Amino acid sequence: MRYISTRGGMAPKKFSKILLGGLASDGGLAMPETYPGFSAAELEKLRGLSYSQLAFEILSLFADDIPSDDLRGIIARTYTAESFQSEEITPLKTLEPGLHILSLSNGPTLAFKDIALQLLGNLFEYVLAKTGDHLNILGATSGDTGPSAEYAMRGKHSIRVFMLSPQGKMSQFQTAQMFSLQDPNIFNIAIRGVFDNCQDIVKAVSNDSNFKQKYHIGTVNSINWARIAAQIIYYFKGYFAATRSNAEQVSFAVPSGNFGNICAGHVARMMGLPIKKLILATNENDVLDEFFKTGRYRPRATEETQHTSSPSMDISKASNFERFIFDLTGRDAATVKQLWRSVDEGGSFDLADTPLWEKVKDFGLVSGSGNHAARIATILHVHEQYGILVDPHTADGLKVGLEHREAGVPLICLETALPVKFSESIIEAIGHEPPRPAGYENIESLPQRYLVMNADADAVKALIAEQAGL
Ligand SMILES: *Cc1c(COP(=O)(O)O)cnc(C)c1O
Repeated sequence: MRYISTRGGMAPKKFSKILLGGLASDGGLAMPETYPGFSAAELEKLRGLSYSQLAFEILSLFADDIPSDDLRGIIARTYTAESFQSEEITPLKTLEPGLHILSLSNGPTLAFKDIALQLLGNLFEYVLAKTGDHLNILGATSGDTGPSAEYAMRGKHSIRVFMLSPQGKMSQFQTAQMFSLQDPNIFNIAIRGVFDNCQDIVKAVSNDSNFKQKYHIGTVNSINWARIAAQIIYYFKGYFAATRSNAEQVSFAVPSGNFGNICAGHVARMMGLPIKKLILATNENDVLDEFFKTGRYRPRATEETQHTSSPSMDISKASNFERFIFDLTGRDAATVKQLWRSVDEGGSFDLADTPLWEKVKDFGLVSGSGNHAARIATILHVHEQYGILVDPHTADGLKVGLEHREAGVPLICLETALPVKFSESIIEAIGHEPPRPAGYENIESLPQRYLVMNADADAVKALIAEQAGL
């Protein structure tokens, strides 16, 4: 398996060569040259496999330059009952016949991002050990990505994490998740400023190509192909758990931001998983809902991006969306390049009057959006009706999923975080605090380890350089 760029300007590369990178050298995103597929007979064999076995069957197709035994070892270290609270890793909860929630949030930071990032941590460590290289991961977070990335990389050889967050702007719970880590390879940096200042620092450092090369700067952002590959697994797991035979189709509802999670569903479908619809849910930041309703993709300016009660979906543009458009065009890199020429300049594109728009429905994608009132109502309804508590992101997914539900087609809603991370909305909906999973009872009172810095890219560079010198 080799990887190419959505913009056509990268010589094909093996998995290990794209693993640590961000954007391809031409500004595009890495994609497998072709999607591997499962025949009906092969699909039948996958039913009944454990999570780790399934992970191996899928990942070995994408990471075929990692020897099988090594890959098995990496998977066995990653998907443990200890890290994810059950052997099933992503258990299916049934609300009523034909309506399910796929639990993706039982990893160390209680958000679905752990499923991909825990694997990424072990893959990075493995590949770096082979090459003798090291990596300084620089990131900015306003909530879920930071904790997931730190828990994935803590204690890993040859990896340091420098995570910028806006001082005092995250929830106490999320702050405590990150700042309570005492591992010497994790650097929490509270920036005197807002999230955009943090992101600007990451951009400034990444744009300094000399510094980037000299200090081996990397990222763990959602355009990383290995993250998508890891997320494909649970679509298969959820499908098998919700059906009895591979003659059945299911639909998935996916709370979406950067189009990473649902992109994995799209790939699973391209590989032959019988998915009827992929139901994309946004919050008030409805860039993607607008596209799937009208054909127009119009990324928003930062000032136009709203702060909502499902904050991990507060995006102004959807970085992985380019992967879907690549497939929509029949993998026509020249067209993708042309469309993103305007996007990269802050513009938009409109496919409504083109033959491509007709094709969108062949991919099973439909959409809808939620808002604060709908989230609160959904949390309350699901709690009263089924005795299950969901977080605000999952609530966006459930709300839109139910709007598209079809008789006779099981609906699987993906749970992307646990309610404990968003207690304010939970209290608003049901009148009391969400329960805390074991081990998180006193997280806010643990000792914290972090630095405070001004919003100054040079100061952050100096810190990275100083650590590299040790
Ligand atoms: C990251 C995140 C999302 C959005 O996922 P994408 O892959 O960016 O579409 C949704 N919900 C939660 C809780 C998240 O952390």
